[in-house]
Amino acid sequence: MTDAPLIAGVELGGTKINCILARGPDAIAEEVQIPTTSPEQTLAAIEAVLERWRGFAALGIASFGPISIDRSSEHYGHITATPKPDWANTDVARRLARQTAVPTGFHTDVVGAALAEARWGAAAGLADLAYVTVGTGIGVGLIAGGKPLDGLTHSELGHIRVARVAGDAWPGVCPFHGDCLEGLASGPAIAARAGKPAQMLSSEDPAWDGVAHALGQLLHTLVLTGVPRRIVMGGGVMVGTAHLFPRVRAAMTASLAGYVSLDEVAQADTYIVPPGLGDRAGPLGAIVLGEQALHGGSPS
Ligand code: ZN
Repeated sequence: MTDAPLIAGVELGGTKINCILARGPDAIAEEVQIPTTSPEQTLAAIEAVLERWRGFAALGIASFGPISIDRSSEHYGHITATPKPDWANTDVARRLARQTAVPTGFHTDVVGAALAEARWGAAAGLADLAYVTVGTGIGVGLIAGGKPLDGLTHSELGHIRVARVAGDAWPGVCPFHGDCLEGLASGPAIAARAGKPAQMLSSEDPAWDGVAHALGQLLHTLVLTGVPRRIVMGGGVMVGTAHLFPRVRAAMTASLAGYVSLDEVAQADTYIVPPGLGDRAGPLGAIVLGEQALHGGSPS
């Protein structure tokens, strides 16, 4: 690993930024955390760190979304329509690429985490996988043939429509769709429905039934779409509630109803797994994005 190039990674989160200088998980030179405040203050703080680290071979940026990943667009490198105050239409990647003048990769935090889990974590060596985060929002990094499933922009599987539990008409909390997946099963949805945060809910609380049912349908959709070889599930709601894994596995299996006859999918305990890198998946994902930019020769 000492032969691997030194990469700078920036994971942009809604509350904090992780800056990391590393060759991989076993060769981390330095990490710096910066609180996410105003765009100008935050980006200036990131630039100061990168300036101090100068000499790295590439830069990877894994960001909360939605973001523009289309390099032919004038909006490339921007955070686009986020409701986060002052951050909509903020240039991140072009600005940092200009400053550092190294090949720069830019994608969503969940795609970064998926690539890191595929490289060093719970899906190591697999070219087809999904990484699902269930926390403040629901996001999915779906990787097929080693590449994220991108079109005009990145996918947004957290907002798919799901069938409701029979008789359940709770309206959900997504400002766009109400009872889409994120509107039903994200941390804020659970808190709104149950009156307290997911981590404080007993495993018997009936709110979990709808959450597991909705997440099971996301897994159903992922199996039928990208046919990943493994699905890694992380984020605050999954990590804090071990009882949820058996429930979402069972919900997926019940929803698929035997239609997909693949041994890998049938063995749900090894098919739906927690992250191998824990909370390191995010910053290490930025490292993989930097590596890919370096080897892919992407223009900075
Ligand atoms: Zn939605």
